[in-house]
Amino acid sequence: MGKKKKEKKDKKKTQPEQVVAPPAAKAAVSVRDLLRVGPGFDLSRIDPRRIVAGPEDKELARAEVAALEPEVTALQERLYAESKGGGKRRLLVVLQGMDTSGKGGAAKAIDRVSEPIGLRMANFGSPTKEELRHHYLWRIEKALPPVGSIGIFDRSHYEDVLIVRVRNLVPEDVWSGRYDEINAWEKKLADGGLVFLKCMLHISKAEQQERLLARLVEPDKNWKYNPGDVDERMLWDQYQEAYQVALTQCSTYYAPWYVIPADRKWHRDWLLTHLVAETLREMNPQYPAIDYDVETEIGRVKAS
Ligand code: AMP
Ligand code: MG
Repeated sequence: MGKKKKEKKDKKKTQPEQVVAPPAAKAAVSVRDLLRVGPGFDLSRIDPRRIVAGPEDKELARAEVAALEPEVTALQERLYAESKGGGKRRLLVVLQGMDTSGKGGAAKAIDRVSEPIGLRMANFGSPTKEELRHHYLWRIEKALPPVGSIGIFDRSHYEDVLIVRVRNLVPEDVWSGRYDEINAWEKKLADGGLVFLKCMLHISKAEQQERLLARLVEPDKNWKYNPGDVDERMLWDQYQEAYQVALTQCSTYYAPWYVIPADRKWHRDWLLTHLVAETLREMNPQYPAIDYDVETEIGRVKAS
């Protein structure tokens, strides 16, 4: 980053911060504890440029992310093995955020620390005609990762209380009932072994403007630009309000929301990959019990 750009970016650190962890405690505390949406949560008080934990240096942060790979892939393999023994557990990473918030980049970061086998990506745009004929959770359920796998959702059923609410795509009495409905649906899945990691990538309005301009100025980014994004941007405050409600109504003990300050891409990736690693560690998947005698089988293989 050029010096000028850096100075300009540093000026943006004006918003008040919500969660303050003393530097010494940073390494010891869990990233999930730092980012979880709990009682009294206020999205407008979260600084999208904040360094929450970990390195304040880009190269160091990237190196720490890369260093997670062996552990994450090993845990991922154990999760898969567990399912072969009848285990029902699976992990679903839900990524939500305004346009340009980096959902695609965040998905790539998870991809980089895991094995492609056992990873399922899905993204949700405007519903097709067929999808509109069904309940809004229909297409979501179809895209859930199989047991033993990790799923990544680029957008999700939360669009049905975000753009749908902001744009009045269904009447208020319909969308207002969806928070409870989503909670009940997530509870049922969580009870069945699905572990939710719901992440909101939180960017500032100024950062979004820069990223949209970059998509226009850099020809190889033009394909990412959608004129409609500006129409949604003009409803920024309504979207922030819709996020505030979704995050607080649907952050439950069985499927909590995490808000990731995402103006700095390298920090976003550090936080997200640590959330994934922490979650997999806690899941602590187990190899299935074997139904043969190892010594006997070694003898049989050698003699064969
Ligand atoms: P993108 O993720 O950039 O491909 O954009 C997808 C667009 O589809 C976004 O503007 C979303 O808000 C929109 N979208 C996703 N789900 C829904 C939904 N259930 N109803 C209406 N629009 C949706
Ligand atoms: Mg887009």
